[in-house]
Amino acid sequence: MEQVIETPPAENVAVKTDDPRYLSAYLLEKLGVTRLNRHNLLLRCRSCGEVWSPTLNADASLPAGYWRCPNGCNG
Ligand SMILES: [Zn+2]
Repeated sequence: MEQVIETPPAENVAVKTDDPRYLSAYLLEKLGVTRLNRHNLLLRCRSCGEVWSPTLNADASLPAGYWRCPNGCNG
């Protein structure tokens, strides 16, 4: 089994909830995705273990379907 390093929420640091990098861990769990790193957007599929980093749109918003596994496990 791989070890997943989970970063606890850091409510007291300057986190803007409209920052696209600030993803809802709860939502991602529902999607079968684990966020590996809260600063760089690095996601891992919990089905196949694929790791990917969505590319933000030009306006720094998250692209549609950013949470989809490249292998299509959850999309
Ligand atoms: Zn997958």
